[in-house]
Amino acid sequence: MEKIRKVLESASNIVITAHKSPDGDAIGSSLALFHYLNKLDKKVTVIVPDAFPVFLNWMEGSDNILLYDMQTELADKVIEAADVIFSLDYNGLNRIGDLRNPLEKSTAVKIVIDHHQDPQDFADHYFVDTECCSASQLIYEFIEKLDDLDKLDKTIGECIYCGIMTDTGSFRYPSTTSKTHRIIAHLIDLGADGSIIHQEVFDTYSEERLRLLGYALTEKMKVFPEYNAAYISLTQEELKRFSFKNGDAEGLVNYPLSINGIKFTALITEKEGYVSLSFRSKDDFYVNKIANEHFNGGGHVYAAGGMLETSLDEAVSRVEQVMGVKK
Ligand code: 5GP
Ligand code: MN
Repeated sequence: MEKIRKVLESASNIVITAHKSPDGDAIGSSLALFHYLNKLDKKVTVIVPDAFPVFLNWMEGSDNILLYDMQTELADKVIEAADVIFSLDYNGLNRIGDLRNPLEKSTAVKIVIDHHQDPQDFADHYFVDTECCSASQLIYEFIEKLDDLDKLDKTIGECIYCGIMTDTGSFRYPSTTSKTHRIIAHLIDLGADGSIIHQEVFDTYSEERLRLLGYALTEKMKVFPEYNAAYISLTQEELKRFSFKNGDAEGLVNYPLSINGIKFTALITEKEGYVSLSFRSKDDFYVNKIANEHFNGGGHVYAAGGMLETSLDEAVSRVEQVMGVKK
């Protein structure tokens, strides 16, 4: 922390990055750190690899986030001028798409703040806790370690609240601790309104998004009670039928876990040129190893993901093999 403190004192241009297909924790942690560093009079830019879901754009500062795939030239210039680069909510350069190119070129001091297992060696400083529920909670703890909790305000509080809320399934996953609740209590005292934040994130579906959920659960969910497993697969055609937008499948993978006895779920989605896989589990079943060994991915013990450059049918077949349904 002392080294990081010195780095920050002398830094003037700071870039904050987060992972591809940014989620509530990626955007929440990035914007919380953005607002905090702005208060220290730093010039700060948040850059993410690609677009984030519309249900996150109520957060203050979200308008100023650069999307690397759309604003590559501008982002390259900003990264070139940076003396410090933060990596939030990811721990390997394979998680940031083409944003890895300027990062690898940059001579800036690199700081990782993250909660995933097995960090790769690409940065100078690591503020990592693999037990922590979210990168957003780690931003709170980071500011706490810098003795700057008095700089927190409602805006920073809302961003941290959103990141913790989305990564803990609204404070219900086992990663939620008493400390998490104490931090949340502090954020509420600062003015973050949990009820409004829940509405912004969870009650702003389009009609088509809700109908896609209904269709996926009724028509596309396969349940294998004898294997404690279930999966949902979706084709490009089906996604188009429901005017699929970024973030519309967020949370879908969790639903089968609410069936009594189901411990392992997968969402298998046909993308353009590849298949994306999302895994969830509970109790004594861990998915990070499965994602890593079979699906070119990784993640946390109960939430992981990966991708395959195969047809959707082939991906489904591999998931069935891993589940034990297919020999
Ligand atoms: P989601 O299913 O919400 O997309 O991802 C759940 C978790 O799995 C993420 O927090 C992330 O840690 C991990 N994850 C998802 N996709 C990948 C991937 O392609 N590679 C790795 N290493 N982790 C992933
Ligand atoms: Mn996270």
